[in-house]
Amino acid sequence: MMYLSTMHSHTTYCDGDNTPAEMAEAAYKLGFVSFGFSGHSHLPYKAGYEMKKDDEEAYRDDVLKLKVKYEGKMEILLGLELDADSSKPDFKYDYLISSVHQLHINGNWYAVDHCKADFDKCISAFGGMDNMLKAFYSATVTATLRDDIDIVGHIDLIGKFNENGEYFDPTNTKYLDLVFGAIDAILEKRPDIVFEINTGAISRGYRTTPYPDIPVLKYLAKKGARLMLNSDTHAVDTIDYAYDKALDCCKNVGVKKLYRLRKFGFEEIAI
Ligand SMILES: [Zn+2]
Ligand SMILES: [Zn+2]
Repeated sequence: MMYLSTMHSHTTYCDGDNTPAEMAEAAYKLGFVSFGFSGHSHLPYKAGYEMKKDDEEAYRDDVLKLKVKYEGKMEILLGLELDADSSKPDFKYDYLISSVHQLHINGNWYAVDHCKADFDKCISAFGGMDNMLKAFYSATVTATLRDDIDIVGHIDLIGKFNENGEYFDPTNTKYLDLVFGAIDAILEKRPDIVFEINTGAISRGYRTTPYPDIPVLKYLAKKGARLMLNSDTHAVDTIDYAYDKALDCCKNVGVKKLYRLRKFGFEEIAI
């Protein structure tokens, strides 16, 4: 079974390598049913990967033109990946992803996923890993419960540099209680929200398994949370990267269906 969709992609409008037209053509060649653009929304500070506020209109125009170009061949959706610090979009996007890439403390912001040096700085600022983990999952709940969020982006992004347990034990009960508590808090208010299984860190060489980690995926499956598959692709050669692996992870923890976003809304796909 091929999932043939991603709603998480980046282009040269933010930190991707290819233009929207190049990305759409690559997805079409793979036989994709639907392809969503989710440029990083502008931020009140310069993080380096975000779109400039003034470029967002051109981004939308480009994607809207592609919608027309691929009409009847592949569904194109216009989305946005919102950061915890992004302002509410002043445009009605087809869908919104909520992600936390930065944390704040003592008037400064720190990148969670940029590089190990920045990650180390963030841990120090929080006075240790435990506090940083608490802050990350608390920010994740708050950001996700904003208005109009459709998709929870890489819920355990904080494990990007931690596949070997260098920073914390991702199987430890105390850690998992924190993640499960965040999931419970989200599902209590938004039982219909869709959590993504994200293969982006695999294609970029940071991890060998997708987000979320297996124990977290297992918990989401147990709770009956809606799940989708996203490649978080930044280039034409990673549009469906490691989808087979991600599907195996799903099957191994008892996931029987995934959700795929189409023009008419989310549809169930048996796996
Ligand atoms: Zn992201
Ligand atoms: Zn992304």
